[in-house]
Amino acid sequence: MRYAILGDIHSNVEALRAVLDALDQQPFNGLLCTGDLVGYGASPREVIRLVRDLEPTVLVGGNHDWAAAGRLPLEYFNPFARDAILWTRKVLDRHDLEWLGRHPALVVRGDVTVSHGTIHDPEAFDYLQSAYDAHLSFSQLRTPYAFVGHSHVPVTFRSGTAVTYMIGDVVELGDAAQAVMNVGSVGQPRDEDPRAAFGIFDVKSRTLEVHRVEYDVEAAAARIREAGLPEFLGDRLRIGR
Ligand code: ZN
Repeated sequence: MRYAILGDIHSNVEALRAVLDALDQQPFNGLLCTGDLVGYGASPREVIRLVRDLEPTVLVGGNHDWAAAGRLPLEYFNPFARDAILWTRKVLDRHDLEWLGRHPALVVRGDVTVSHGTIHDPEAFDYLQSAYDAHLSFSQLRTPYAFVGHSHVPVTFRSGTAVTYMIGDVVELGDAAQAVMNVGSVGQPRDEDPRAAFGIFDVKSRTLEVHRVEYDVEAAAARIREAGLPEFLGDRLRIGR
């Protein structure tokens, strides 16, 4: 079994198209989507359409998806994110908004758990960033593998007597009983690498590959400007922050 993993697309259709082109060269038989299809970027409709057509094996809702759908209060968001959520509500029709709010924050399927935020409190949409966060999540995790999003930074945690923290393009899980993996963000990377990120996880070899692909950042930034969204949301795409 080979899973393709993508998430935090954030209405960036240029980045998503580049990732889908790259996925054409990567055979996989399950697609896991870790949430946040919308928010920040200017192409929510196009992103929703593409993701629906992919028919993901698992699709969870992210905090921006839920907020656009009216399922999460806006006070949790910074002013830039709030502007983008209000704009997203305006440009999507009721059908798309309802669809965004329909996906649970955490899904368990076979040997994988998928959540946008943490495993231990998925609907709080907290970041899973530290070894301590991972420790709390491992205490609730019932499958060998978990994929999370939200932080937009690729990182893997392995369970064991001490939770280990790993980064890199190729991560081998070795004999760890469980692992929580974040493959980074398609549409708004924050690890100072502006390229779009996605993952391929091979269950048999227990290896995660984090792939990065160039895309037309200027086109995505221009679309954000033309939509009247905060200029900062385009600027940050250029630096990957
Ligand atoms: Zn996000």
